[in-house]
Amino acid sequence: MMSNNTLLIKGGTVVPMTGRAIINKGAVFVQDGVIEGVFEEGLPLPRCRHVVDATNCLVMPGLVNSHCHSPMSLFRGMADDLSLDDWLQGYILPAESRFINPETVHTGALLSCAEMLLSGTTCFCDSYFFENEVAEAVMKIGIRAVLGHSVADKLAGGDTNKERTLAKAVDFVQRWKNRTPWITPSIFCHSTYACSWEILSEAKEEASRQGVLFQIHLAETRGEVDQIKSKQGLTSCALLDERDIIDNDTLLIHGVWLTDSDLDIIANRGAAISHNPGSNMKLASGVAPVPSMLKRGIPVGLGTDSPASNNNLDMFGEMQAAAKLHKVHTLDPTEMDVWTVLEMATVKGAKAIGMGAVVGQLQKGMQADIIIIDTAKPHLSPMYNPASHLVYAAAGPDVRDVFVGGRQVVKNGRLITFDANRIIDSIGCISTEIKNRMKQDEWTPGTPD
Ligand SMILES: [Zn+2]
Repeated sequence: MMSNNTLLIKGGTVVPMTGRAIINKGAVFVQDGVIEGVFEEGLPLPRCRHVVDATNCLVMPGLVNSHCHSPMSLFRGMADDLSLDDWLQGYILPAESRFINPETVHTGALLSCAEMLLSGTTCFCDSYFFENEVAEAVMKIGIRAVLGHSVADKLAGGDTNKERTLAKAVDFVQRWKNRTPWITPSIFCHSTYACSWEILSEAKEEASRQGVLFQIHLAETRGEVDQIKSKQGLTSCALLDERDIIDNDTLLIHGVWLTDSDLDIIANRGAAISHNPGSNMKLASGVAPVPSMLKRGIPVGLGTDSPASNNNLDMFGEMQAAAKLHKVHTLDPTEMDVWTVLEMATVKGAKAIGMGAVVGQLQKGMQADIIIIDTAKPHLSPMYNPASHLVYAAAGPDVRDVFVGGRQVVKNGRLITFDANRIIDSIGCISTEIKNRMKQDEWTPGTPD
């Protein structure tokens, strides 16, 4: 008996990310949204109702974006070429306090989810205010996400009442836990400078109690690390560790200024790191010691950070940035080879955000989050090594088809779950309002509140 809900992707070059092998003219068989088998050329293939021809294409796991603030697509290109402090205090925080509400968060998240699916990202780890609205957008578009409800008691833009902000995060987790395979809830504390030590400890305790991932920006800039060290005598990482905040359910974001002893702590505790090379370069935060992290066996994922500090969510661009940044920084062209980078964007990224048993590889039992990349293009010809093209030559628009949990969401480069033009129109209306209010001098960008 043939199940109605089967899918066979055949004829393409399969890059399963289960090791470093590539299968020419392979096939992937999916049943009820789960990968049932990956076949080498010549093996008998199961009969299927839905067959997708991937001739002249690469077939691989959907990319995993391990750090994003999806609603911030609202502020894409609003402020560039500034220090993190000027960008954050002078533009982003004032803009958030004026324009962030459930409706704008929902529209911004829809836009980012559409952008991510169209460029081959099938799973992302997010954190922002009004995360329920992000969850609703995720469900509408059909992407997979780990969503962190923001907890902060010293940061403008959100609720700074400690009890209320914690209670809201717990409500969010309980609302979305085990509700749908598309959403995994999490708790996010912005940073050691936006949160008191008290709330950091309580938020981590709550995340552990709920059994969810705890996320925090850490050691993004030298100023942040120096300030804490001069006041408290220890690095922010060591201070978090003193409070038992770093464990194998903790995702540390950026980690640009982590020391060797910080990295030892992180490796010993089994915590993970999200590396965001595009954002770190644009804000001139520095170069994260990623080779040292990887040498210690720390799971390191790749992330885009927000669309306001990058300024797009194309993980192909992020892979290329990661590969090149560490080569020039170490003056060693053998550093961060293509497979290392591909692993960070798939299997290691999935592990870093607690999804390692679910996505990131094409193998039996994993969710069928699969992307097909069309290589019959001048910039992808000839092809000696598919892994090389994925890191150094391909880009988001080369993605032809995308499946999440076996459901097709992008077909021939078009989003089929939602009208992308409608989202672009809605975003246009919001950005016009922002521009008008800037003109009316209600708000002079660059001036902190
Ligand atoms: Zn961030």
